[in-house]
Amino acid sequence: MTRVLVLNCGSSSLRYRLFDGSDVLAKGLIQRIGEEGGDAAGHREALQRLMDTVDLTELAAVGHRVVHGGDRFTASTVVNDEVAATIEELIPLAPLHNPAALTGIEVARKLLPDVPQVAVFDTAFHATIPPEGVRWAIDREVAQRWGIRRYGFHGTSHAYVSRETARVLGRPVEDTNVITLHLGNGSSATAVAGGRSVATSMGLSPLSGLVMGTRSGDIDPSVVFHLHRVAGMSLDEIEDSLTRRGGLLGLTGDNDMRTVLERRASGDPEAALAFDVCCRRLREYVGSYLAVLGRADAITFTAGVGENSPDIRAGALGGLEALGIAIDPERNARNERIISPDGSPVTVCVVPTEEELEIAREARQAIGSGH
Ligand code: ADP
Repeated sequence: MTRVLVLNCGSSSLRYRLFDGSDVLAKGLIQRIGEEGGDAAGHREALQRLMDTVDLTELAAVGHRVVHGGDRFTASTVVNDEVAATIEELIPLAPLHNPAALTGIEVARKLLPDVPQVAVFDTAFHATIPPEGVRWAIDREVAQRWGIRRYGFHGTSHAYVSRETARVLGRPVEDTNVITLHLGNGSSATAVAGGRSVATSMGLSPLSGLVMGTRSGDIDPSVVFHLHRVAGMSLDEIEDSLTRRGGLLGLTGDNDMRTVLERRASGDPEAALAFDVCCRRLREYVGSYLAVLGRADAITFTAGVGENSPDIRAGALGGLEALGIAIDPERNARNERIISPDGSPVTVCVVPTEEELEIAREARQAIGSGH
């Protein structure tokens, strides 16, 4: 059996893709689950609907996207009662993301009891980051007791895209260093050395690092204390402000990069500043990861913004010729696979991400049926 169903559950949505090998047999999105006038009353009904409309026989596995694996899961894992209980214990680390995935897993275990369910974690690829890259300089007892450290996210995307980059370069993965820039609604940068993540920009949660659609990315943590004490905001209000009303939305009132780019092109100063803040942050991470890696063979852009915006790519990497980084304007404008000039010391790539395909591959590998 070569078929794998990939499920990505949000609090009110269920995104699915059915693969046979790398062929997509079916895909879709069930939305506004549990809401009035939505597609289904609950995740159970949503999955039941999927089983009624899509042929789910002959499944080798179901692969579930789970955002947070904490330090308990360093690889994709076949779900049993104990694994499900551990994912539940991790909810405090990812209260916005893990509950929906757990619901999806529980419903799928009930409705497809004979099919192995595999949890594929966004954090797992980053388990190889060395201690000095995950520890923060805080009280060690507090850190230990509450699991306060960098975990990192978007792992399936960074894993897939860094492997694909080695393929584009025609080099063995083990001997290739890549900086991957996943720029979508959520955004993160990762340094990958020989196929292993060694640094990444997201931390305990997906809030830190780059400027995102609605998330602030890096800020001084004292901003939180100040907003609480001086502005009188509650912790929930501050979290909402930083995660849902920050980023591009906070800077411009628009969370969609296309809109921000259009406003910038028509001379809007707020949009121009937001663009500059985004690009500046990207340069800071690229510079830092060049130093962490010592040598980068490639820098790869992926996801909605990374795959489609020549302006952001040029804004992030322009003027870095002294570091061996250059962009060919025509290749960049055409979103070509390689956008640096021939012979550049660092190859700059655009590689579309395939997170669902990577989850399917991980699920197959976890149940031991290879690639
Ligand atoms: P998600 O993180 O939800 O998977 P995507 O990877 O699809 O999101 O990225 C969404 C972002 O990509 C949005 O900000 C959108 O404006 C941006 N985007 C999509 N197409 C383009 C484009 N042609 N130019 C610039 N930005 C784009």
